[in-house]
Amino acid sequence: MRRALFPGSFDPLTLGHYDIIKRGITLFDELVIAIGINADKKYMFTLQERTRFIEEAFKDEPKIKVTTYQGMTVDFCKEIGADFILRGLRNPADFEFEKAIAHTNRKLSEIETVFLLTSSGKSYISSSIVRDVIRNGGDYTGLVPDTVVAQR
Ligand code: ADP
Repeated sequence: MRRALFPGSFDPLTLGHYDIIKRGITLFDELVIAIGINADKKYMFTLQERTRFIEEAFKDEPKIKVTTYQGMTVDFCKEIGADFILRGLRNPADFEFEKAIAHTNRKLSEIETVFLLTSSGKSYISSSIVRDVIRNGGDYTGLVPDTVVAQR
């Protein structure tokens, strides 16, 4: 069983995440979308809201599971038997950041990180931009899956 973990904050789920998840499930038998809980971070959406956005968006995808975790990502991978971490790359800044984390994770474990390049037309989408648009009363509906719009 090839199980992968897709970790993130998903505050909120965007069409960028959605695209990576949809393409990622073709590579694995199971994809666990794991919302990391960081007590020091301030979120716009509650953990329950963020979980529901993802569950609703993928309710017809039996290969996708949604969960939350605390602590180190590699420890959580071992706990659930995931041999791969899936991450998306948008730009050189993502690459540099992700490279250091992936190398560290390889130092700490056997877990491989698999990267998918953002689809053309999605590279500018980030949760932080979506939050800015929402805060300023703008139209964010073209940046997130329908489930995020429907539940607000
Ligand atoms: P984190 O807080 O770990 O950065 P995010 O929720 O922001 O969590 O992102 C989770 C993953 O989704 C990361 O690998 C990120 O690079 C990827 N991602 C986010 N937006 C996009 C996008 N537009 N295209 C491709 N990958 C993306």
